[in-house]
Amino acid sequence: SDADIAVVGLGVMGRNLAFNMAEKGFRVALYNRSVERIDEAIALAGPLAKNLVACHTPEDLVAAVKKPRALLLMVQAGDAVDETAARLQPLMDKGDALIDAGNANFHDTVRREHALAEAGLAYLGVGVSGGEEGARHGPSIMVGGKPEVYARVKPIFEAIAAKFQDTPCCALLGTDGAGHFVKTIHNGIEYADMQMIGEVYGLLRRGLGLTPAEIGDVFERWSEGPLSSYLVDITATVLKTVDPKTGKPLVDVIVDSAGQKGTGRWSAIEALALGAPASSITAAVEARGVSADRALRKTLSERFPGAAQPLTLAGNREAAIELLEKALLAGKILAYTEGFAIMSAASREYGWKLPLAEVARIWRAGCIIRSTLLDRIASAYDQTPDIESLVLAPGLTPLFEGAVGALPEVVAEAFRHGHAVPALSAATSRWLALRQPRSTADLTQGQRDFFGAHGFGRIDAEGQHHGPWSQSEG
Ligand code: NDP
Repeated sequence: SDADIAVVGLGVMGRNLAFNMAEKGFRVALYNRSVERIDEAIALAGPLAKNLVACHTPEDLVAAVKKPRALLLMVQAGDAVDETAARLQPLMDKGDALIDAGNANFHDTVRREHALAEAGLAYLGVGVSGGEEGARHGPSIMVGGKPEVYARVKPIFEAIAAKFQDTPCCALLGTDGAGHFVKTIHNGIEYADMQMIGEVYGLLRRGLGLTPAEIGDVFERWSEGPLSSYLVDITATVLKTVDPKTGKPLVDVIVDSAGQKGTGRWSAIEALALGAPASSITAAVEARGVSADRALRKTLSERFPGAAQPLTLAGNREAAIELLEKALLAGKILAYTEGFAIMSAASREYGWKLPLAEVARIWRAGCIIRSTLLDRIASAYDQTPDIESLVLAPGLTPLFEGAVGALPEVVAEAFRHGHAVPALSAATSRWLALRQPRSTADLTQGQRDFFGAHGFGRIDAEGQHHGPWSQSEG
């Protein structure tokens, strides 16, 4: 019983997290439902195996860990977590902690924490981002739970986390579901960011006629500027990759139907429930849905041919590419603004006091949406923690102002020539609606009062009022 921590679930993420911990000198007990994966992990570990303890039953696993125990679950999200927790719980002693590091829905995390607390057990809900590579060499880690429970695993988490200028990308963000909520919104922003990148790729490809390799060069150039980010970097690499089998650009032999596991959808659902708009995130989730309906797309494209004509954007290719860069930058800033506003609304609703500057800081390395923009966002929240909108931050306004004019121009031109740009257009509509001093909800309120006597406010008087509808026809 000398292991510092147990890892349960030795899939892609669990195995790599365990190796990362072993490499930092921690002793890690391993268990997996399909027991053959335990010895497989040991065999793959090489010299790290000296810090790993293979346990072939849950009983052996629990016995192998120092008390109070920390048992980290990295199993499929959903029922697998409840099933695994139910198997381990009777073997645990009071004060032991279960840590769910998978992509849980935060409502489940809140429920599980309360259920375990009743049994005298501690719980942490931890969001981990960075994929396989991150898990192995440094992920971004978003923790929710009680400070005294986090304190027990903090040295391990900080040791394995990605470092941004020597600072670990790992933090306790609030109680119970806070970590998993922040991870969910991280993924929501990731959906929007990826979708916008995809839309701009489509315009460069089908609108301006560039080849995937040429577009790869464009993204490579953009990654030197304000768009600098992991997603832009990997976009360049993916686009320049050639399929060894056919010699074609790899992107052209990949089926154009996007998968999803739920975190984008949860972001949209939670945002709607909180009354905090998630226009571009929702558009990105729906776009993946549309992409998956390949049969309908085939039917409709044959019945209504002629979509996606060349763009006449900006007159010449270089100017068009510059306009697209600006549109992508403005779209990206708006998507992040949206994501942080959702977290701010959730923080108020659930009493988490989410430290948004800290969220931005721990996303600067390790995670999938890491980008230089996050540095500016961290400073914005450091300066003004309750800022009304990120686009008002002194560190962001000039960048945004210089780019946002390109958005409606690109979207209008895309629509005119038959290109779908759902996330960019959703961000544009929301932006245009937000910057108009008077909306058309005056009419909506008039209609609501007409048919339902809901009442309306007047610009020249206090209180609720009704229209003189009885004098009207209808
Ligand atoms: P894998 O599919 O590689 O592994 C799934 C693991 O879950 C296996 O260990 C599997 O055990 C176990 N499991 C599944 N069902 C059950 C069950 N009913 N009871 C017990 N164990 C079960 O998944 P990943 O490693 O990719 O993902 C693990 C978690 O991490 C998920 O929540 C995922 O959303 C999250 N995540 C994944 C990322 C990624 O890039 N892959 C990034 C960030 C988070 P068995 O071998 O017996 O089937």
